[in-house]
Amino acid sequence: STPTDSARTRRIPFSFELYPPKTDAAASALATTIDHLAAAGPDFLSVTYGANGSSRRSSLDVLSRILRTTNVEAMAHLTCVGSTHDEANRLIREFLDAGVRSFLALRGDPPAGTKEGEAFLGDFGSAAELVQLIHRVQAEKSPYRETIIPGIPAARAVKPGHEKVRIAVAAFPNGHPRSRSSAQDIDTLLAKQAAGANLGITQLFFHADHFLSFVQRAREAGVLFPILPGIMPVTSPARLRRIIELSGEQMPADLSIRLEIEPTKEGQREIGIQHAVDLASQVIAGGAPGLHLYAFNQHETVLEVLDGCGLLGAPAPVRTPTALPTIV
Ligand code: FAD
Repeated sequence: STPTDSARTRRIPFSFELYPPKTDAAASALATTIDHLAAAGPDFLSVTYGANGSSRRSSLDVLSRILRTTNVEAMAHLTCVGSTHDEANRLIREFLDAGVRSFLALRGDPPAGTKEGEAFLGDFGSAAELVQLIHRVQAEKSPYRETIIPGIPAARAVKPGHEKVRIAVAAFPNGHPRSRSSAQDIDTLLAKQAAGANLGITQLFFHADHFLSFVQRAREAGVLFPILPGIMPVTSPARLRRIIELSGEQMPADLSIRLEIEPTKEGQREIGIQHAVDLASQVIAGGAPGLHLYAFNQHETVLEVLDGCGLLGAPAPVRTPTALPTIV
């Protein structure tokens, strides 16, 4: 069976990742992007969080907009590096107060020039501790369950006793840059599961077998939650260089050469989209439970990727605000 056959025979959920805009013009462009992405029927839209809380307000603004204007789950990335317990506690409450029920719990990158074990790390040594804290704060906030959240349609308000938060965590098919061994990456994931995480989302990768063999190792070690492949359409050589620098991944020679020798911007864009379509189709054929697409705050490219995979136009899933979506 071809990858597209496989996509047709089961519903493949997808989600998009956005980042908080830095200017008013970017904010209004993002509002349009959110409308387009929401119309495609994603399972959730996630919003990144700047290192050390630098984007707390703007991340919350984007999340609130998603909650107010769409029917899509809004997932807040949160980082804990450098925070005290009290600060993290207040932060989680603030996001819950805004109506967010879905988190990507991250440790976050230490400031440049610091080493593991230094005091800057704050009260948290790993993302697993943040996962635990989110669950604890959520459980303590039982009054919420009765709350109708201002600005959010009543039908989406949380019903007593049924609230469940989704807590995703990061996973690294090619290893975290600071990890000592691939076994450590799996152990870290197991620790996150033990803390209550219920979804994994991977760092970008460029070869399907990197994702598929990682998931297989995670399953063999006892990781039970679904792991979504993080797919990034890379549409220019400059962007490829930048994301390699940021992620610490190895430069994919094949894609790099094809982008470098293509003279036109349109041609480069097509190469990037086709590469993402092939990668996505291969991981779906290999059993990936869905796709998480890094959207770079633009809808056209990621929607073209989904279209290329045959995933657009399927009926949007029926959603209730209290159930976890059906990612298997
Ligand atoms: P952890 O999983 O806690 O791991 C950090 C390191 O410590 C790893 O090397 C791990 O192996 C090691 N470690 C953890 N626990 C243990 C343990 N018990 N024993 C031994 N070693 C351990 N960053 C942002 O600032 N904002 C974002 O919005 C953001 N979004 C992201 C989204 C995705 C999908 C991904 C994959 C990453 C994202 N990041 C983001 C980057 C992330 O903050 C960095 O990768 C960061 O360096 C580690 O965060 P973590 O949650 O993976 O940490």
